[in-house]
Amino acid sequence: MADLPLPIPDADTQPFWDYCKAGELRAQRCASCGRLRHPPRPTCAECGSFDLEWVKLSGRGTIYTYAVSHQAVHPALEGRIPHTAILVQLEEGPLMTSNLVEGDDRVAIGLPVEVVFERVTDEITLPKFRLV
Ligand code: ZN
Repeated sequence: MADLPLPIPDADTQPFWDYCKAGELRAQRCASCGRLRHPPRPTCAECGSFDLEWVKLSGRGTIYTYAVSHQAVHPALEGRIPHTAILVQLEEGPLMTSNLVEGDDRVAIGLPVEVVFERVTDEITLPKFRLV
């Protein structure tokens, strides 16, 4: 079976992946204006500041939108169908793209979800979500 393509951490995203490996969902918060942002990037879209801190999130949110794939759109997804891509509105505000790990037949916009961490390699642990 083919392997799923994995994230390739860079200087901006490495902390996010390190926190996931430690079982924590975190996002960048602008140290100047306080705006939360995800995905990680070097500057604040609100005020342009390079100053940031990483804040721990609750891991809870609601499904903002989703797509259920009933075909393996990548060889690595053979045997993992249906495959549900979700956009989660995190409790703290930012949106996060992920996957639903169970409950594909019950998925709906607005349902509450919580993060679960899936260790894929020694370097990458993916934040995924389950219905609550
Ligand atoms: Zn800012």
